[in-house]
Amino acid sequence: MRHALAAAVLLLSASAAAEVAHGGTSEVQAVRATMDPGGPRVVVDLSAPTAFKVFTLDSPRRVVLDLADTRLADGVRLPRSLGPIIAVRSGVQPGGALRLVIETSSDEEPRAARLAPVGAEGHRIVVDWAGGGAQRPVAAVHAPKQGTRDVVIAIDAGHGGKDPGAIGHRGTLEKGVVLEIARELAGLIDREPGMRAVLIRDGDYYIAHRERIRRARAAKADMFVSIHADAIRDRDVSGASVYVLSERGATDEAARWLAERENAADLRGGVSLSDKDDALATVLLDLSQVANISASMLAAERVIDAFDGLVPVRKPRVQQAGFLVLKSPDIPSMLIETAYITNAADERRLRSDAQRSKLAGAIVAGVQSYFTRNPPEGTRFAELRRLAAAD
Ligand SMILES: [Zn+2]
Repeated sequence: MRHALAAAVLLLSASAAAEVAHGGTSEVQAVRATMDPGGPRVVVDLSAPTAFKVFTLDSPRRVVLDLADTRLADGVRLPRSLGPIIAVRSGVQPGGALRLVIETSSDEEPRAARLAPVGAEGHRIVVDWAGGGAQRPVAAVHAPKQGTRDVVIAIDAGHGGKDPGAIGHRGTLEKGVVLEIARELAGLIDREPGMRAVLIRDGDYYIAHRERIRRARAAKADMFVSIHADAIRDRDVSGASVYVLSERGATDEAARWLAERENAADLRGGVSLSDKDDALATVLLDLSQVANISASMLAAERVIDAFDGLVPVRKPRVQQAGFLVLKSPDIPSMLIETAYITNAADERRLRSDAQRSKLAGAIVAGVQSYFTRNPPEGTRFAELRRLAAAD
């Protein structure tokens, strides 16, 4: 156990060391202790990605976090006793490292990870014990009960394999950059409490559109997000757009679902079409699709809002179109044209790791904001909302 942690920590430090060499001094902006059903957690908010080492010492039991080339910003208060976290102290190490010492009563080995910015959260190093869990402010009294299910977000990287998608003037292939964004997005989602990502495609191969929908349904996805990059003859056009299914596209699809309803799986709401006559099945399907388009629209609006100021946007309103991949009648679905690969500045952005993480971070923030307002039954989001209402 201890060996595994040491190896993981070495790996993190080695990959992070290069960044600090370029990045210069980092600053600790806050240190937060939080408590969650999953266990206690210490979050160190940083001004930049920072190389670190973590190890434990005994008698008294403590976790030592050494942050390379880092200083403590003025006025930062270190957290006091919370659950098994007894105290946090700081000290300056030779060579400019900042040492944070977490005195703890827990014998468990902590896990430490560096997280990229997501939504309102910036660069962080998180130390958690026993499965981690959500970040909750120290002052928060309530915590969601255990046993809630995660919301599942199906992430569909467009195109793949024989289908390269759009091609930029510098030769950038849509199928490649959207897979990078999809993977980044999945990583960020999996780090958020109460959310889990499923990649519809995780390699350079082609999947038919209906198969993409089928995979999302098989994963019991609560949301489907398809990632693309747009192309147009006019090289000046740039920025992101977000699409949901048009009513027209839904109507066309209804006929197909009805025709195939003997084979089709039940709708997410527990409604089966197979035992209904045509008239009733049509009504049920229509209702499901109308509700699904409006849910998709709300979610897409949250994503566009999250783009504001972070990601250049071409159209500030949600667009509607008959994209085949959006045609699930019961999973809120959106297609994000992340940028114009045919625009020089956009193509450059799509090729940049930093810009792709920024984009992925904004998408996560939007999706999270949607689920906070529209929590599916039985999820952590529903539980948090119930607790908030009870206050
Ligand atoms: Zn595309």
